[in-house]
Amino acid sequence: MNMAFILSVKGSDVVSTQPHRTLAEAAALLASRGIGAVIVSGGDGEILGILSERDIVRAIGRDGAAALGEPVSRHMTARVVTARPESTVEQVMDQMTALRFRHMPVIDNGRLAGIVSIGDVVKWRVEDIETEHRAMREYIAHA
Ligand code: AMP
Repeated sequence: MNMAFILSVKGSDVVSTQPHRTLAEAAALLASRGIGAVIVSGGDGEILGILSERDIVRAIGRDGAAALGEPVSRHMTARVVTARPESTVEQVMDQMTALRFRHMPVIDNGRLAGIVSIGDVVKWRVEDIETEHRAMREYIAHA
């Protein structure tokens, strides 16, 4: 199971914001779209960073409500870790666990092809394991 398959099922829709937007605007976007992170992109569509709900909570915890007026660029993570369409569910899950984040943009030929969350990864990993178990049970039953 790889990222290309997951994106073919969930779609390649990516919600993004711009670096000059405020954290309040980003929080409203996350809430209205029911998501946990947005890609921060420049005028030409290049990826400048990623901002997750955790970044917003951290900023408010540190600076109080005033943080909501601060720009996204101040709180985003600029060094974005990405996956490729052929990256497997196991590889992405390992990276998310080791690096402690829950969102992975997928880049295909230099283009943003979609974003996969830890929820997607866990769902498809469980599916993989169940398929393996079913095959093993059938094999044992007919051995
Ligand atoms: P999350 O667990 O995705 O809410 O994010 C936790 C932290 O990791 C936040 O500071 C995010 O900005 C950052 N982050 C999330 N996804 C990525 C990613 N793919 N690459 C780098 N940093 C990320």
